[in-house]
Amino acid sequence: MSLLDIYVLGAPILRQETRVVENVDDGVRRLIDDMFETMYAAKGIGLAAPQVGRNERLAVLDIDQKPYVIVNPEIVLREGAHKAEEGCLSIPEIYGDVERAAHVKVKALDRDGEPFELDASELLARCLQHEIDHLHGRLFIDYLGLLKRRAAISKWEKLRKGDKSLTRTVTPREAAAQHKRDEEL
Ligand SMILES: [Zn+2]
Repeated sequence: MSLLDIYVLGAPILRQETRVVENVDDGVRRLIDDMFETMYAAKGIGLAAPQVGRNERLAVLDIDQKPYVIVNPEIVLREGAHKAEEGCLSIPEIYGDVERAAHVKVKALDRDGEPFELDASELLARCLQHEIDHLHGRLFIDYLGLLKRRAAISKWEKLRKGDKSLTRTVTPREAAAQHKRDEEL
């Protein structure tokens, strides 16, 4: 397995539509394994393929010590509404309150290409919606009001101190030192 670079806000791939995975083969499983390794190293709880520069429609999550792989996911039911703070591995150290459905039902394929359904609420429901958004070029800051979005982006630019790179490299050692928080997706 290997750690992948994470694409950050400004990288065009984060705004692009993904393509349906036709065949969950060994190449796809290798990508899934690398994404898990990268997500854990970055202390994240979710990671979508565009965040590592790929256009496959898939994401990985780990909620309450339970790993999930969603390939070609579709939200087939949304119920209720719940607002909570979100962050994103592609916009490190920026957080904002986002309203999401409180409960979702998701259909997807697993790492063997087998179809399954997930009934999710609370953090898992939020994380699924965040990751599935990534697969359609959407970021959590898109949900913030104009002023909060502007404030988030200017804080992001200040933190970057003129750095224009579109990727960041994660190492386990750095991750332990830099990330005090656990909810970046
Ligand atoms: Zn994210």
